[in-house]
Amino acid sequence: MKFYKDHYDVIVVGGALAGLSAALMLADKGKDVLVLERHNLPGGIATSFVRGGIEIEAALHEMMSIGDKDNRLKVGKFFDDMGVDVDWLKVPEAYHASLPGLEVTLHPGLERFAKEVDAAVPGTYDKVLRLLNLCHTVFDSVNELSIHPMSKPMMLLKHEAFVKTAGYSTKEVLDTFQLPQKALDLLAPYWIYVGSGFSDLPFTIFSVLMADYIGYGSFIPRKFSHEMSLKMAERAEAMGVQIEYRQQVDKILVKDGTAYGVRTARGDEIHADYVICSAYPNKVYTSMIEPASAVPAGAVKMVNGRRLSLTAFSVIMILDQPAEKLNIRDYSIFRGDTMDTDALYKNLAGLGPYRYLTCICHNYGNPDCTPEGTCSFSITVLPRVDGWKTVKAEDYDAVKHRVAKQLIDDMSAYFGVNLLDHVLELVIETPMTVARYTGAWNGCIYGYAHTMEDHIIARLQTAEAERFIKHLEFSGAHAISGDGMGPAVTNGRKAAKNVLDTMAEEAAK
Ligand SMILES: Cc1cc2nc3c(=O)[nH]c(=O)nc-3n(C[C@H](O)[C@H](O)[C@H](O)COP(=O)(O)OP(=O)(O)OC[C@H]3O[C@@H](n4cnc5c(N)ncnc54)[C@H](O)[C@@H]3O)c2cc1C
Repeated sequence: MKFYKDHYDVIVVGGALAGLSAALMLADKGKDVLVLERHNLPGGIATSFVRGGIEIEAALHEMMSIGDKDNRLKVGKFFDDMGVDVDWLKVPEAYHASLPGLEVTLHPGLERFAKEVDAAVPGTYDKVLRLLNLCHTVFDSVNELSIHPMSKPMMLLKHEAFVKTAGYSTKEVLDTFQLPQKALDLLAPYWIYVGSGFSDLPFTIFSVLMADYIGYGSFIPRKFSHEMSLKMAERAEAMGVQIEYRQQVDKILVKDGTAYGVRTARGDEIHADYVICSAYPNKVYTSMIEPASAVPAGAVKMVNGRRLSLTAFSVIMILDQPAEKLNIRDYSIFRGDTMDTDALYKNLAGLGPYRYLTCICHNYGNPDCTPEGTCSFSITVLPRVDGWKTVKAEDYDAVKHRVAKQLIDDMSAYFGVNLLDHVLELVIETPMTVARYTGAWNGCIYGYAHTMEDHIIARLQTAEAERFIKHLEFSGAHAISGDGMGPAVTNGRKAAKNVLDTMAEEAAK
């Protein structure tokens, strides 16, 4: 019996969140789909691992765009619609901000959040609420316009706030509110999840981030991000998708400017009408297209011109005491010696010491996630790829341990507890870990940076021109939405929609 069919409607390269979302959507529309994943399990970065008999989350701090059961946002709704039954737990707080002169815990809910900022910086309630409401209005517009595009005059009529703020940076819009610096500091911590300093971050992106996380709260799966990946893969298979693990795709085959299949590292040549690819365009256009002469010059220009977003450095620990005994009191802590995001962005280009970090204690969102009497605690920095690209192989261990030590020492001093005295398990993930595990270009986790010159609105407008090879779509953090697990799901769906639209257009010809 042949292992592969002679032909598929669509081959999906990569069985992580984006690839599996595309596969689910296509299978739901009756398409014959093959997913090829180079690992022996689904999920890519959305996974867990086991050390000392304890299952440990590999990456996820919090998922956006899920929403409560009776008020789902787009990603939560997609899972529900596809029959992917994830046991979501709502994260109890937005974050604890540990910033110069501020130790404040803030909770989701626009009014509650504004009240809590006001309690820390009196007299700011009205302005902060007005700002959050503006973010929410823009967020609603983005959601509507991404499904129902409309003409510019109609947009002006129906989405005035969106149109009025679209060309401005986060800094420019925040400045108009004339808030005291401390209030601005309390509003800034999530910036790292979109990874550009406020001078270069479009206000639209900031709005979506704030409205989604603060308006609706964030979520985690009870059985770690691996639960999402595994349930997506199981459901896709139940819907008829063929998923093959340990199958690395080396080449995407192109003829007359159109993709028609792939070649795996094992040498199988498999044919399909369409290919959806989770590997970064940088990788695809520089080494995966066969023949190489089929790569248009514009494609190489495009990837060279795009700025990569952030990568990740994370120290993940299992500690031998319950969190509160170690003075760990919050689910999420953002800590920095400044909240000047432009300065922090510069600092992230180096190899430390890092001035801004984020910590997660999963037990506060998922009390049973570690054995009784222990807790899980991770410290993460999201550096730019620049510094890490310069690390030589012979220096790697020393740099990794130096950076990890800085982070642990910083948080130990903060808690007044030497965390190293309490370690049962300790794992260090670096940009190199991400690059090796998922093949992500330079270990980048958020795709391409959203900047004033290149962001989701601009990308939507250039998307057609950037379809350099027909019947080849990209899905993954590097596609249009960028940034994180929720957007990766949206990107996978968008890739599947593009395929379905093209199929319909070509059938109608
Ligand atoms: C420490 C850390 C913390 C994070 N925290 C959060 C968070 O709290 N919230 C959030 O939303 N996001 C977070 N992220 C980011 C998030 O994990 C990613 O943005 C997202 O998971 C990317 O998903 P993806 O589907 O694009 O691809 P990936 O997870 O990168 O997966 C790509 C998949 O394609 C496969 N693949 C690649 N090339 C090939 C090939 N040639 N052949 C076959 N298979 C291939 C890989 O094996 C992999 O399975 C975090 C990341 C890290 C590292």
